[in-house]
Amino acid sequence: MSATKTGYFTHAACRRHEMGRGHPECPERLDAIEDRLLATGVLDALERREAPEADLDAIALAHDPRHVALLGELRDEIAEQVEAGGYAYNHIDPDTAMNPHSWDAAVRACGAVCAATDAVMAGELENAFCAVRPPGHHATRGRAMGFCLFNQVAVGVKYALDRYKLQRVAVVDFDVHHGNGTEDILAGDPRVLMVGIFQHPFYPYSGDHPRGDNMVNIPVPAYTKGMDIREMIDAIWMPRLEAFKPELIFVSAGFDAHREDDLGQLGMVEADYAWITQKLKDVANKYARGRIVSSLEGGYNLDALGRSVEAHLRVLADL
Ligand SMILES: [Zn+2]
Repeated sequence: MSATKTGYFTHAACRRHEMGRGHPECPERLDAIEDRLLATGVLDALERREAPEADLDAIALAHDPRHVALLGELRDEIAEQVEAGGYAYNHIDPDTAMNPHSWDAAVRACGAVCAATDAVMAGELENAFCAVRPPGHHATRGRAMGFCLFNQVAVGVKYALDRYKLQRVAVVDFDVHHGNGTEDILAGDPRVLMVGIFQHPFYPYSGDHPRGDNMVNIPVPAYTKGMDIREMIDAIWMPRLEAFKPELIFVSAGFDAHREDDLGQLGMVEADYAWITQKLKDVANKYARGRIVSSLEGGYNLDALGRSVEAHLRVLADL
């Protein structure tokens, strides 16, 4: 058995997308992750790959063509504003905006997840982490919201089903916020099982009534501790994942349920992220030849984010 190979997919465009001074979903998030992985030597153990641009046809597997066209129009408007000597953000909602680089960043984020899927399916990599922005799990089939433009994990799932004719793909979402966009896109598809845990009631105020039998949602109250979250995952996620026997696992890896993260009020710590990752790895090793494609979602306390991604990657890469 050869050593685990873990990919690290990212692109400079993901650093150039920003939504205004003081916005928590900031470029420095990627710096914090890379600085931490560099300082700890974890980055040396990963295979770094440039995220390509996603094929727009792949994005259209998960999104309404009108949504893709609308973001394209906003991109063109911003380009005209820049051309005219101005620079303004195009606001989609109070939390979500585009700057001149946002389209590229969102397309590269989708490209990262699709390329990571190709690499693990080809057996070049065992698993992969996509260090990308903007996040994606709030973007629905037809709408950008909650810092998200395109839903890269949902795009990756649809791409994997379409390209590799897989029958069983799992999605795991441990961000503090419910992955309403992913649920919107994947609910009712019998080839997909999505398991999530999130603070509730909390933004985006959904998930307590799952929209399909293939959605396993665990809403938890504010101040739930990591140990309690582990117990619920063991009791509720794991039997469903075991019964489903996924051929590939996607992770919406948000780290804003960390107890130091002010955007949420849950009590997870690095050891909890390592524990969850090991659980997923055990399932992947049993049924999916180890194949896991993980993509960054939330995580806004920069220091906690760096440490949490490090913990996640140490398990993925067997370090
Ligand atoms: Zn979040």
